[in-house]
Formats: sequence, C-alpha cells, structure tokens
Amino acid sequence: MACDAAGVAGGVRRVAGTVSEHKAELTNLDREIGDGDHGENLARGFGAVIGKLDAETPDSPGGVLKLVATTLISTVGGASGPLFGTAFLRAATSVGDAGELDGSAVAAALEAARDGVVARGKAEPGDKTMVDALTPAVDAAKAAAEGGGDAAAVLAAAAGAAEQGAADTEPMQAHKGRASYLGERSIGHVDPGARSTAYLLRALADAAG
Ligand code: ADP
Ligand code: MG
Repeated sequence: MACDAAGVAGGVRRVAGTVSEHKAELTNLDREIGDGDHGENLARGFGAVIGKLDAETPDSPGGVLKLVATTLISTVGGASGPLFGTAFLRAATSVGDAGELDGSAVAAALEAARDGVVARGKAEPGDKTMVDALTPAVDAAKAAAEGGGDAAAVLAAAAGAAEQGAADTEPMQAHKGRASYLGERSIGHVDPGARSTAYLLRALADAAG
C-alpha cells in the first residue's frame, strides 16, 4: 500500500484493531508493574481516533499523524498518553506536507518520534520504558532506509527490532514511570509501553507490506 494519506490512515486503523485485540494482555502487563490500565488507556485513545477518521480523513500523511496525536493527548491520559501524543506530533512535523512517504521519510519520522518521547519523558535506553522498543526500532529503520528500503521495508525492520527491544525489557529494572516505584520487583516483567510500541509498529508494517 502506498504511504499516502489513505495508506497511513489504513495503518492507524490496523493499529486500533491490534490495540483492541491485545488490550487485556497490555493491561495485565501493566498490572504486574504498574496500575493495570495501559491496555484500556490505549484502546480508548485509538477508539477515539477511529471515530475521528470515520468523520473525516485528513488529506496528507502528516495530517493523519497530527489527528492521531491530538486525539491521543486528549483521550489516553496516564504517562503514555502525552508520550504517544508527542511521538505522533513529532512524526507529523517531520513528514511536513509530503503527499507520500518513502523509506527515508518514514525512518526520519520514527527518529523524530523517539526523540520527542525522550525529550518529554527523559528516559534513556535501559530504563525499561517504550524508549527501549523505540530506540532499536529507529536504528533498524535508519539502516533499512540507508540500504534503499521503501516505507514497508523500513517499517518491517522497525517492527522486528521493537519486538526484540520489548522482549529485552524483561530482565531490566525500571528507572522511569510508575514501575520504578517497585525497584527490583520490576525485574522479570516485560514493560507494557515497550510491548504496545512493538504492536503499534508491527501493525503499521503489516498495513504497509
Ligand atoms: P501510567 O503509568 O500513568 O498508568 P500507562 O500505564 O498508560 O500510564 O503507560 C505506562 C507506560 O508508559 C510504561 O510501560 C512505559 O513504557 C511508559 N512510560 C512511563 N514513563 C515513561 C517515561 N518517563 N518515558 C518513556 N516512557 C514512559
Ligand atoms: Mg498504567
């Protein structure tokens, strides 16, 4: 599928489906090391995004990403709402008013998204947050784009790396967010935000591929 406005909107619809499908699992992960609302938070947010897309789909990829950002910021709440909102907003700014995204534009948007999350949440790799999924995703995306990969290839590389990054959070101790209150007891669980980030990127990659 072309990475134009309709393609990006299709990807976002797929993300909403994935989030809804994995809502209970994400909430259960958050129950282990947080307050048990991550799946609900994201399902509410992406449900609202679908309502907005049904009413009117913006006519550029950046417009779709901006709509996602503003909707998530106003509906998700918790720590992850503003963080995912910032990620989509930075991605929107990165793609500007391009009508269609190639591999390098997608990689640049992912990097801008990750940088926005880091600027807002101050988490570093190893702190057991969504940054641990986003950072390897950005590295893989940039390598794929530099190798001439198109948008679908770049997203597939990002999704695979994010899945590994999320799995790698299991032995980590949390140093940011609610899970950090648990100290060493946060060890031995996958971070819910890293897991949801991997689901999100996999859904975008599947939609693009
Ligand atoms: P809350 O913790 O407010 O209940 P959620 O449960 O929706 O919010 O989201 C929790 C997720 O947010 C965590 O699993 C982690 O990935 C992410 N997170 C929390 N704080 C930060 C931070 N400072 N930087 C990056 N990600 C964070
Ligand atoms: Mg929570």
